[in-house]
Amino acid sequence: MAGKVGSSNTGGSAGAARPREIVCANCGQTALVRFEPVYEGFRKVGETVICTACGFRYEPGTEVPFAEPQESRPKIFSDDDRPAAINIFSEEERRHSCGWCKNFVVNPFTQRCGLTNQPVEATGLCLRFEAKPGDSQ
Ligand SMILES: [Zn+2]
Repeated sequence: MAGKVGSSNTGGSAGAARPREIVCANCGQTALVRFEPVYEGFRKVGETVICTACGFRYEPGTEVPFAEPQESRPKIFSDDDRPAAINIFSEEERRHSCGWCKNFVVNPFTQRCGLTNQPVEATGLCLRFEAKPGDSQ
């Protein structure tokens, strides 16, 4: 049972490059920040975050207005791509949905499947889909 004392001091990465930006509450700029360790005696009790634009110090315990991490920005591009992908899918699905099936029965109160007599929706997908006759598209 002995000999499994985890070494808690793997250190080395502390304070390494971690560029963070804030939208500074003092100067209003989006600026990089500097981290300054705060010691109480010999014990590190926190970090002061310092705005590199104006030098304003956010003492430990103060809320620091960090900017959004940069990773979130490229999402704008993937959002642009997405509609095209959705269109391909919905077209594919439309061809197999109940609304296009010859067994789809519509009356004023309900839409149902002529095979199962169950209520269905025009957008529903069915394994027993059969294209309407004469619908060459
Ligand atoms: Zn500032």
